[in-house]
Amino acid sequence: MAVQPEDQAVTKERNPYRIVQALLKEAVQTLGLPYDVYEILSYPHRFVEVNIPVRRDNGQLQVFTGYRAQHTHVLGPAKGGIRFHPGVTADEVKALAMWMSFKTAVAGLPFGGAKGGVVVDPRQLSLRELEELARGYIRGLAEYLGPHIDIPAPDVGTNERIMGWMMDEYERVVRRNDPGVLTGKPLILGGSYGRAEATGRGVVLCINEAAERLGMKLRQATVAIQGFGNVGGHTARLLHAMGVKVVAVVDIEGGLYDPEGLDIPGLLEHAARRGSVAGFPQGDPITSKELFQLDVDVVVPAALENQIDAEVAQGMRCRIVAEAANGPTTPDGDAVLKEKGIFVIPDILCNSGGVTVSYFEWVQNLTQYYWGEEEISQRLARQMKNAFARVFSMHREMQTDMRHAAYLVAVRQLAQAMAARGMIPPIG
Ligand code: GLU
Repeated sequence: MAVQPEDQAVTKERNPYRIVQALLKEAVQTLGLPYDVYEILSYPHRFVEVNIPVRRDNGQLQVFTGYRAQHTHVLGPAKGGIRFHPGVTADEVKALAMWMSFKTAVAGLPFGGAKGGVVVDPRQLSLRELEELARGYIRGLAEYLGPHIDIPAPDVGTNERIMGWMMDEYERVVRRNDPGVLTGKPLILGGSYGRAEATGRGVVLCINEAAERLGMKLRQATVAIQGFGNVGGHTARLLHAMGVKVVAVVDIEGGLYDPEGLDIPGLLEHAARRGSVAGFPQGDPITSKELFQLDVDVVVPAALENQIDAEVAQGMRCRIVAEAANGPTTPDGDAVLKEKGIFVIPDILCNSGGVTVSYFEWVQNLTQYYWGEEEISQRLARQMKNAFARVFSMHREMQTDMRHAAYLVAVRQLAQAMAARGMIPPIG
């Protein structure tokens, strides 16, 4: 049965699960694949809910709900981060798991997609409470995890320290040393050089590839970044080190704009101390909405989903949007960007540097042979350039935008694996 194009209309859809399903459906149709490919890939293969009791410091018990979605394992074990955020929902986790499958396929990694989430504001927990929550989450899910089953990593609201606790808890449960069960660990526990900055480094590599193809002189360009966490912070640092002017940065507590370029090293130090860019003595205050409207060359959304909708996109004046976050652009926002000729580096390509170095970490853990910083950085650059080139030639060949091109690359790869496994008939 052919796929009907009912989801192709520009929609006001905000549910990321529906958004990614529609993108999948369109790719299946464009590639002329059997409808079964859509049927199989439009659901997570497995979805688990855990409820985690945590004894708060004041003596009260609080139960936190967490999820883990494993989307597909046709290309390898499921892979993806764990998010700690008050806005986490079941559908968001499912969508993020699907995005991971497409991301790893675009990046050419032997992984499927997964994602976890806990409905919590980690900033409201003490370190002890956070550790109890992290360990409880892993205990609840341990039987579904493993270096050849599902390999978590950090995401929004989690970090290296939390990965250390989680790995320790997993090893206690399974009673063996097994560092490849998750990535983004501290170096001393089998983490990899370059993992913390990998997503930011990948974003910068992608911006560089895009700039070259668009004939833009990156060193003279100006950049605005929404989000100053692990991804936004490293992206800003690396761009600044290359001599690129980062003129605006916004996080949840505030924002700054200085057309002459912000003092990024100073800002990073300030944010590490204060937990936010707010209160840094440089530039004019600016909101997220205003940041998107700035007359800059590159805008980097590095926060959460659904930030660039049609209204925001209408006012955008940049040449490149580099999607460091997952799902930052809504379908109607995307249509406006396309109409305006703004070049979008889609999330599943743009932020794939993180999971790429996670792959290197996993390989090092499995082989127990560890690589140096230089090797990681060279391999990452090679992998990202190849991924960008694959998507860019699909974009040219199919006369479609970069997002749809990335889905075509990913879905074709997944369908080939499904056919080779005998799940669907052979494909041409
Ligand atoms: N959370 C990151 C992402 O969304 C990294 C996932 C990983 O390294 O497995 O891509």
